[in-house]
Amino acid sequence: MISLSGLTKEFPGGVRAVDSLDLEIGDGEFFALLGPSGCGKTTLLRSIAGLETPTSGKIRIGGVDVTASPPGRRDVAMVFQDYALFPHMDVTSNIAYPLRIKKVSRQRREAKAAETASRLSLSDLLARRPAQLSGGQQQRVALARAIASRPQVFLFDEPLSNLDARLRLEARTFLKRLQRELAVTTVFVTHDQGEALALADRIAVMNAGRIMQVGTPSEVFHRPTDPFVAGFIGSTPMNLLPASAEGGRLHVAGAVLPLPRDVADGPLVYGLRPEYADLSQSAPVGRRDVFSGKVAVVENLGTAHLVTLDSGDLLIQVVVPEGDEPAVGASAWAVPRPGRALLYRDDRLLTGA
Ligand code: ATP
Repeated sequence: MISLSGLTKEFPGGVRAVDSLDLEIGDGEFFALLGPSGCGKTTLLRSIAGLETPTSGKIRIGGVDVTASPPGRRDVAMVFQDYALFPHMDVTSNIAYPLRIKKVSRQRREAKAAETASRLSLSDLLARRPAQLSGGQQQRVALARAIASRPQVFLFDEPLSNLDARLRLEARTFLKRLQRELAVTTVFVTHDQGEALALADRIAVMNAGRIMQVGTPSEVFHRPTDPFVAGFIGSTPMNLLPASAEGGRLHVAGAVLPLPRDVADGPLVYGLRPEYADLSQSAPVGRRDVFSGKVAVVENLGTAHLVTLDSGDLLIQVVVPEGDEPAVGASAWAVPRPGRALLYRDDRLLTGA
C-alpha cells in the first residue's frame, strides 16, 4: 500500500533527517514508526503526507508514484499531535471540513459528520467549539475528521501524547479497535515503545534517520537484531554487558556461562532482559553461571521491583516479584534463565545463549 524507496530528506545545514530508507507497508496494516527524539519519525510521516519534499527517493501509495503530488492529491488524512482543529468552527464543521474541500453537498456532509461523531461518542458535543472540549474529546474530533474523509491512509503523529496517563490507555484501546473495524492502512509515529508494542501490527525502529529493524512487536521484543533496538524496546531496558567467548565458555561480568556451539572466540555483547533473571539473596552453591553484586537501587514498579546490582564495575538489573525485594546494600546474585540471553558481535545479533 505504501512503498518507500531510497527516501532521503536533507534539511539546510546538512541534517539528514531521513537517510536512504526502504520500507513497504501493507494494505490495512497498523504500522508504528518508533524511535528517540530527533531520529526522523515526523519528517518521514510528513514526507508520506506530502508536507515535506524529499531530497531524493520515491514514495508510492496504492501503486501510484506520489513523490511529486501535493498533499490534497494523496488521499491520506493526518492527525497531528496538537490535533490542529479550527478554533472558530464547531465540532460538526470541524469533522465535515475535509468533505467541504471535496465539494460534498452541505446536507450529505452534515449527515456524514453526525454519523462519524456518533461512532466516536461525540453526538452530544456537536455544537461546541474546540476550546469547550477536553483534550480527549479534541482528540476524538481530530480522529473523526480524519475518518469522515475516508482516506486510503491514516497518518498519526503522536496523537495520544497530550492525554493524561489513564486517558492515554483508554484512547489506545479505542484506537486499536477503531483501526481494526475500519481496516484503513495506518502509520503511527511514537517515541513510546509500550505504545508501539501495544498498537502496531509491525514496528520500524528508527535511529538517526535510518531504520534499524522492522518486525512484529514480538520480533522486535524477543529478537532485536542490534543492541540499539535491544536497549530501546522494553519497559525496563535490556542489560547489555561486555562479554567474551574463550575456549568454549562465555565470560560476562565475573560469571562463566555456556557458549552456544557456533560462536567463535572473541569479544561480544551479552543481552539479558531484567525479567529473565532470578534474584537469589544467598550465594548459589558451586555455581559460576551467576552474577554477584551489592544491591545499589530498588525501584518500585507496582506489582514488581527493579533491582540494580553493582558487580564492582558493571550494573545489572533484575525484576523481582513484589515481596521478594532485597535491602539496599545487601549482597545478592542474579541467576540468568537458560536460553533467554542474546549475543551480539559488531552490533549484529548472533544467537541466544
Ligand atoms: P520528535 O520525537 O522529537 O518529534 P522526530 O523523530 O520526529 O523527533 P524529526 O522531527 O523528524 O524527528 O527531526 C529529525 C531531524 O531533523 C532532527 O535533527 C531535527 O532537528 C531536524 N529537522 C526537522 N525539521 C527541520 C527543519 N525544518 N529544518 C532543519 N532541520 C530540521
